[in-house]
Amino acid sequence: MSAAGPLTDRFGRVHTDLRVSVTDRCNLRCFYCMPASGVEFRPHAAILTFEEIARLARVAAGLGIRKLRLTGGEPLVRKGICDLVRMLAQTPGIDDLALTTNGVLLPEYAGDLKAAGLRRLNISLDTLDRKRFEEISHRDELDRVLEGIETALRVGFEQIKLNAVAVRGRTEADAVALVRYARQRNLPLRFIEVMPLDGDGRWTRAMVLSGPEILELLSRELGPLEPVDSAGSRAPATEYRFLDGGPPVGIVSTLSAPFCDRCGRLRLTSEGKLRNCLFSHDGWDARAVLRGGGADDDLARLFREAVAGKKERHGTDTGHVAPTQHAMHEIGG
Ligand code: SAM
Ligand code: SF4
Repeated sequence: MSAAGPLTDRFGRVHTDLRVSVTDRCNLRCFYCMPASGVEFRPHAAILTFEEIARLARVAAGLGIRKLRLTGGEPLVRKGICDLVRMLAQTPGIDDLALTTNGVLLPEYAGDLKAAGLRRLNISLDTLDRKRFEEISHRDELDRVLEGIETALRVGFEQIKLNAVAVRGRTEADAVALVRYARQRNLPLRFIEVMPLDGDGRWTRAMVLSGPEILELLSRELGPLEPVDSAGSRAPATEYRFLDGGPPVGIVSTLSAPFCDRCGRLRLTSEGKLRNCLFSHDGWDARAVLRGGGADDDLARLFREAVAGKKERHGTDTGHVAPTQHAMHEIGG
């Protein structure tokens, strides 16, 4: 484990991204992310305070973390979220602050988030069909999400992207309409292969609508696509463009073509566990250090230990990931 310099793991991957989950709670119940009922959320006292998150962000920035993304659960259900955005936007060394949201609360929050210093927004949208939205999320909130997207566009963030989870037997009916919707608004759209993080243990490999299948479907219906040259990109999505132009369509093929070799991400769960992979079973307890009177050096050591413990690959490609140790909303997607 290197004692100084950037957060480099045993395989030479430098870690510059930290995804911070600010809550495990949510105003939707997407079936691929949490059980429909009976979810036990963490008590408030167990969740990191804004001051604790800001301190960890400062330490992380000192170790070379440059990008923070706030996620959850649904980050906009955390009370005072704009205050946290403001605190993090002022962290020296952090040059990119983003947030992933389901969009339900964007009609109320988009303006304040921008004013607080948020630069980039990812908004999740799996379907434009109200009934299917309710089947997926167990809530009738599609209209608010669509209104939230329009509000965010009016507010004018540096970048807005749409995310759709790709599930066999569902996404085939939505993919073309989603791409048309994204193109009308000039928004990049990414399809994310559904991962074994549903919390119910109901995920099966057969549920994965793979990247190549989505591309085949899109090109059949909407015309040919070509890969966008992304040499050197560390983004998980492989991007494509329709030959007749428009915003890119990305594929996050965690299962069919894992991108572990270019992963430079760490995660912080809402109760303060550092994780080095979505699928890892280990967590490094930053909350214990924070609340046990630890110094910044102790926190820095924890970051280095988490990075040193990172495995080469996540194991889904070899079938070694069992569904499901943790649900996505508990870790932070
Ligand atoms: N609540 C916010 C939202 O839905 O955008 C942020 C948290 S959510 C866990 C982050 C992203 O993970 C969303 O785009 C969501 O669709 C995606 N996601 C959740 N569960 C997933 C799964 N099992 N496989 C793939 N993506 C998933
Ligand atoms: Fe909530 Fe996002 Fe999970 Fe859906 S994917 S249940 S919106 S945290």
